[in-house]
Amino acid sequence: MEVLVLVIVLIAGIASWIFKQWMFEVKRKERRDYYRNVYLKSEAWQRKRYVVLKRDNWRCGYCGAKATQVHHTRYAKYNIGTEPIDWLISVCNSCHDNLHN
Ligand SMILES: [Zn+2]
Ligand SMILES: [Zn+2]
Repeated sequence: MEVLVLVIVLIAGIASWIFKQWMFEVKRKERRDYYRNVYLKSEAWQRKRYVVLKRDNWRCGYCGAKATQVHHTRYAKYNIGTEPIDWLISVCNSCHDNLHN
């Protein structure tokens, strides 16, 4: 009888762990979609992007070519849009592609 209780507790523990992992994954995807579909299209981001490109003189921080994009070295996971510009770096297309592969 005690063994059965132990097994049930164990299964419940595993189930709740799986559920938490799943929830974490769902939330992560939600944040990512928000980033892509809302934040990266916002005026606030366009302004910040411009500030970063200007700071870096429109040069790629990795190879020195003309920068056309801005890359996040870190993300402000729970407060989208609050990343300091120190976390952003100007990049060219090809370096940016490499960074995300
Ligand atoms: Zn580059
Ligand atoms: Zn990037």
